[in-house]
Amino acid sequence: MSKRKNKTKITFLGNNSEAVTGSMILIETIDKNILLECGMIQTNSQIEDYKSNAKSFPFKPKNIDYVFINHVHIDHFGRVPKLIHDGFNGKIICTPITKALMKPMGLDSANIVRRDAEYLSRKRGKEIYPYYTENDIYRMLELTESYVCDDIHQLDDNISFKFLHNSHIIGACQLELFIKNESGHIDKILYTSDLGRINLKNHYVDNLEKCKNASVVISECTYGSIDKNIKTDRNKDLEKIKTTVEQVCNVREGRILIPVFSLSRSQQILTDLYLLYGDNPNFKIPVILDSPLIWGITKIYKEVLDKDNLDLFEKACNWKNVKFIKDYRESQLCVSDPTPKIILSSSGFLTKGRSINYLSEYIKHTKDAVIICGYAPPNSIAGKIKSGQKNISIDGKSYKNKCGITILNSYSSHIQHKELLDYLKDIKTNKVYLVHGEEKGKLQFKEILEEEYTKLNKTTRVISTVKGTVCHL
Ligand SMILES: [Zn+2]
Repeated sequence: MSKRKNKTKITFLGNNSEAVTGSMILIETIDKNILLECGMIQTNSQIEDYKSNAKSFPFKPKNIDYVFINHVHIDHFGRVPKLIHDGFNGKIICTPITKALMKPMGLDSANIVRRDAEYLSRKRGKEIYPYYTENDIYRMLELTESYVCDDIHQLDDNISFKFLHNSHIIGACQLELFIKNESGHIDKILYTSDLGRINLKNHYVDNLEKCKNASVVISECTYGSIDKNIKTDRNKDLEKIKTTVEQVCNVREGRILIPVFSLSRSQQILTDLYLLYGDNPNFKIPVILDSPLIWGITKIYKEVLDKDNLDLFEKACNWKNVKFIKDYRESQLCVSDPTPKIILSSSGFLTKGRSINYLSEYIKHTKDAVIICGYAPPNSIAGKIKSGQKNISIDGKSYKNKCGITILNSYSSHIQHKELLDYLKDIKTNKVYLVHGEEKGKLQFKEILEEEYTKLNKTTRVISTVKGTVCHL
């Protein structure tokens, strides 16, 4: 950390300043050090990711006072346990739902870190120690304090904050951070983290609440590139699901795999299937959710949802067709079972987890099908299936892709290009820093947003960040 000045300094340290994972931004105020999130880098290479995430932080973790976590995706909070492992002893600040979800998500992550370390130890012939363990997860929970949205919370003499609702995933929020400098002037920083859809809401998420003004805005830019502005129509996707189920399960007596993320997407798709078929006594196809993490998260949903949301979720989970599988042996038997069924299993990108076991079985049969929901990185297995590749390599073995493929576009949990443009151009601010996007898309978005500001006679500057970009307030 640099020698403390009488002004606030923001440094874009994380991988999210030049890509879409690994969120981490350092704010040095007149007397405190704050991290805006501390997430894992996630690419498609297990070894590269392990190396990147095991690296030391570019500051002393014991000197950090507060870490804000806006939502519980691993690329936003997954390195907090390492921060603790390396000496952090400050406060972790998030919403109550995010805190509740940190336990299953954190323990699952510690398990993956341990398995990756074991794999690397075998590969290199020497012991590689995991860069955090379950103990760090429990310590993380002890250090975490939860705060509700919409109230201003005073952290100390100079720092206060407010969380704004966000439709990205359950419990997600934006952060408005108020920092008083030496002259008594208060700067307001808006950090959007990942933003959710405005015009097409997923189940169990809040409406996105808009910030009106800020000294500085730090915004995500996942769909900065205009060519990612895909038309999304939920009703069309629901029709596609119905057609696929009819053709595959009823006509061909085949099986359907829907690779999903354990958090949010699996609960969303389960609920949509329930709303499509729950009232139909003749619908006999089993809907199977196979993942211990889906089970853990489902339990938390039942604790944190209320009123109509809880009622709907309980109905979907208790639907007679639904079965949850936790046990690995039972999962293996289910993979080889030839009878018609719909499987929801993680991971969504088919990069790891039990969804790969189902794929390696279903891919061999023309009667079976895979439904891909939303975005998939082009070099992930889900991305390759989506682009129509005929030969798919799974765990080093090559398969001819014979199964049917259905692609759904409306299930993204990220704000779309036009929605983001409309949101940001209405905010009264001096500077907008773009993070969480590929460089090409960010530069394209910067140009378009600056044009919008010019049309509105605003002098707002837009900065496409790189690692090391600094902002002095
Ligand atoms: Zn996210």
